[in-house]
Amino acid sequence: EGAGSPPRPSRGLPPPGPSAAPIGRPASAPLAHWTAALSTHLWARYQDMRRLVHDLLPPEVCSLLNPAAIYANNEISLRDVEVYGFDYDYTLAQYADALHPEIFSAARDILIEQYKYPEGIRKYDYDPSFAIRGLHYDIQKSLLMKIDAFHYVQLGTAYRGLQPVPDEEVIDLYGGTQHIPLYQMSGFYGKGPSIKQFMDIFSLPEMALLSCVVDYFLGHGLEFDQAHLYKDVTDAIRDVHVKGLMYQWIERDMEKYILRGDETFAVLSRLVAHGKQLFLITNSPFSFVDKGMRHMVGPDWRQLFDVVIVQADKPSFFTDRRKPFRKLDEKGSLQWDRITGLEKGKIYRQGNLFDFLRLTEWRGPRVLYFGDHLNSDLAVRGRGARNPPLLSPPLQQPLSLPRCVTKALFNAQFGSIFRTFHNPTYFSRRLVRFSDLYMASLSCLLNYRVDFTFYPRRTPLQHEAPLWMDQLCTGCMKTPFLGDMAHIR
Ligand SMILES: [Mg+2]
Repeated sequence: EGAGSPPRPSRGLPPPGPSAAPIGRPASAPLAHWTAALSTHLWARYQDMRRLVHDLLPPEVCSLLNPAAIYANNEISLRDVEVYGFDYDYTLAQYADALHPEIFSAARDILIEQYKYPEGIRKYDYDPSFAIRGLHYDIQKSLLMKIDAFHYVQLGTAYRGLQPVPDEEVIDLYGGTQHIPLYQMSGFYGKGPSIKQFMDIFSLPEMALLSCVVDYFLGHGLEFDQAHLYKDVTDAIRDVHVKGLMYQWIERDMEKYILRGDETFAVLSRLVAHGKQLFLITNSPFSFVDKGMRHMVGPDWRQLFDVVIVQADKPSFFTDRRKPFRKLDEKGSLQWDRITGLEKGKIYRQGNLFDFLRLTEWRGPRVLYFGDHLNSDLAVRGRGARNPPLLSPPLQQPLSLPRCVTKALFNAQFGSIFRTFHNPTYFSRRLVRFSDLYMASLSCLLNYRVDFTFYPRRTPLQHEAPLWMDQLCTGCMKTPFLGDMAHIR
């Protein structure tokens, strides 16, 4: 899971095991000599253990990942699912990575031309290998870093601009610890006030641009307020979306930007053929979704869906009861009549989850919703709105080859999206908390029967039996049943 730098014990040296050299220093041994010997011994023991693990589970095996598979956090029986819901962007429509450099360049040029940023930042091009999804950014300290499920920064993965920040400096910046007080610094949706988490795939060009601009300002000794710089970059990226530039690029060349539309069509028509009901809830406008769906499914795509909701304004769709549904006519104009039911073949705008549940009476395990965004699609479970059988493709882009999977999962600066050395990442924790299943793309559904039941793998907790029984008791002076357990080895 390493990120380029050699693995190191993250919270002090590991204690010696039962077979380690004596810990107490003989009175005759000089302190320096004894310390060096202990250090050599511990590193030798670490290397031995590392070799053992390597022999049993070679790294190639660990990074082998079947991109066609669906992974379960919870037991889900598709036999019980009667209603399938979908997000649109990056769920029904998978976009090519070619969008990222376009977003980066357009936002960079907006910064120069409209925000009057130095012309010098135009020399930066998009580097797709720089960042990974799920990183946190400390706005005041200009630090981009990877944080684990327990709010510890993974040492060796903090960057300011494009330069790594030494571990000692990171620890110093947080008052002598690598624990980041996220509960004070970041909201539920990862939006600040002083730390932001980059959750969606759109964030990749945003993180890259932010890092390049900080790199330029630092490299040229320019005085700046970190908060202003962060806000300007975020606004410039938002302008790319708000001004509809991205919609224009996609609409202009759907062959290039929309991937595997035929598989989306196959998934939807297979579900309908098995008598399932479908709905769509997207934040995108109708005209854009309509063009994409016509491209992937054909002009009759709306016949597949029982309910279509556009410009839903997720995540507040899930929490804000006050926004009513409105109907759009065929030309996309808003109607003013009161909505008393959600009819098939009609297009609705905005609305909220509470009205949606009331009007459709779709509840509980009958419904499975697919989305790609851990905040706006998935952060519902804690709200008690329903028992949301949610699902997320967290991997970047459709992955068809093990080689690509390896590349997508392990990044030179930040390592795996899912793991730090010892722990799941913050991203992983949210994924487990808010989704029942996860997969690389919607088309993975085609690899399972429509009545399949997914079971999560039962993984051991720290106090439960591990692979090597003596690890359970490492460092413990009293191991009453080590003999009894030996046969499990
Ligand atoms: Mg989406």
